[in-house]
Amino acid sequence: MLDLSRIEELRRADVPPARHLIDGAFVAASDGAEMEVISPLDGKVLTSLARGTTTDAEAAVAAARRAFDDGRWAGLPPAARKQVLLKWADLIEEQALDLAVLGVRDNGTEIGMALKAEPLSAAGTIRYYAEAIDKIYGEIAPTGDGSLGLVHREPVGVVGAIVPWNFPLMIGAWKLGPALAAGCSVVLKPAETASLTLLRIAELAQQAGLPDGVLNVVTGEGAVVGAAIAESMDVDVLVFTGSGATGRRLLEASARSNLKRVYLELGGKSPNIVFADAPDLKEAVKVSANGIFRNAGQVCVAGSRLLVERSIHDAFVADLTEYVRDMKVGDPLDPATSAGAVNSLRQLEQNLGFVAEARALGRDIRIGGARTLQDTGGYFMEPTIVTGVDPADRLAREEVFGPVLAVIPFDSEEQAVAIANGTDYGLAAAVWTSNLSRAHRMIRRIKAGIVHVNTYGGSDMTVPLGGVKQSGNGHDKSLHAFDKYLDLKTAWIKL
Ligand code: ADP
Repeated sequence: MLDLSRIEELRRADVPPARHLIDGAFVAASDGAEMEVISPLDGKVLTSLARGTTTDAEAAVAAARRAFDDGRWAGLPPAARKQVLLKWADLIEEQALDLAVLGVRDNGTEIGMALKAEPLSAAGTIRYYAEAIDKIYGEIAPTGDGSLGLVHREPVGVVGAIVPWNFPLMIGAWKLGPALAAGCSVVLKPAETASLTLLRIAELAQQAGLPDGVLNVVTGEGAVVGAAIAESMDVDVLVFTGSGATGRRLLEASARSNLKRVYLELGGKSPNIVFADAPDLKEAVKVSANGIFRNAGQVCVAGSRLLVERSIHDAFVADLTEYVRDMKVGDPLDPATSAGAVNSLRQLEQNLGFVAEARALGRDIRIGGARTLQDTGGYFMEPTIVTGVDPADRLAREEVFGPVLAVIPFDSEEQAVAIANGTDYGLAAAVWTSNLSRAHRMIRRIKAGIVHVNTYGGSDMTVPLGGVKQSGNGHDKSLHAFDKYLDLKTAWIKL
């Protein structure tokens, strides 16, 4: 149960100005510059961040390099690294509510979801990789008698991690957990509008005994701090979650610098496909609504395209509209709220732009479509359902990253597959059907990193998450995530 009086206390707590964490010390920007943190709950200044410079990013990379090269972390026995990471996970869990409320004030996610998806998920992720550390073996190759082939797995070195604002702790931990468990050192660049909780958990990592310089956090603008990390000659691997435009810049930066490996998770336009033979259409309505409108649609795997078989289209849309009418939009620190704030004014304006374009094309805005609760000063938007969307519309092809659902009817399995695969993205999908053969055919034919069947979202740490096509490369979660942070090295020995 959520402790409501504690939430109210934390809602009003002062948040001190935040500093970078470089080489174990909290420091201001090299030129002293700061940037305001605006809360999406009321549009007011919450606190300030160090506005990082290229010099700051370079200092953090240099600290990470020293920490890696002298073996203060990578050189520890795996079981010793495990103890530190387990302690870190415990500290995060102990402070879960404080972290969740701070995060909500910074980025606007509903508190119930934030608590589970942010600190508690991050603690679980870190624990998962901590427990795996001393269970990863190298290989002995099946050679002839005269040779011995050994395959070592070695940490890649210095990892640059650039993360977004929608789930900073969850996504941050998907990178930090396996990177640190593998023995790498990290320079983390949080998003401008969601840095506070990552800095707080970095402090807890220090308390847990992570040696100085192994985890560094540099805040500020992507185009300055993020770009400096991407251009660095001393970062070995770059891991990123964010927009396609930034992802392309990171690949270019790698090509211009040291050809560092770049792993991208770039969002999607995920199809949620409801066949008339879905086992429970009421459940499909509820899960589909939550699959796009929770966290105000700011979820990379959000089911933002709803494909409905024509025979049930009108009834399904009517039920969905009724369900959405009852969703409570507003104060994300009120546990009764089901859709919280849009992260920033810029994002809100972008969302409204998509709706305006659909309206101009004559598409039907079934519900929502406008900013709401403007008197709070916060950035809130009504959950919006648009029907009659043409698969060629921008709303059907481009990621909104807001509470806007595009509904498209289909007549056959064949057509559903064609529409589902008809975007540049390939992150997530869902299929609702009672027909086992159809479910498996759809799993095979849909181009996506994850295909849900008769549900949406909720996959746990045991399975990988990654995109195909322009949704990215590489995988977060599961033991496969280690592939990004551990290199293979062969020893070939003549006997
Ligand atoms: P969004 O538009 O959703 O904020 P971005 O891709 O811009 O997505 O942001 C994701 C992360 O990438 C943030 O931490 C941001 O600061 C960072 N970022 C933005 N621009 C750049 C850039 N040019 N180089 C490196 N990182 C960047």
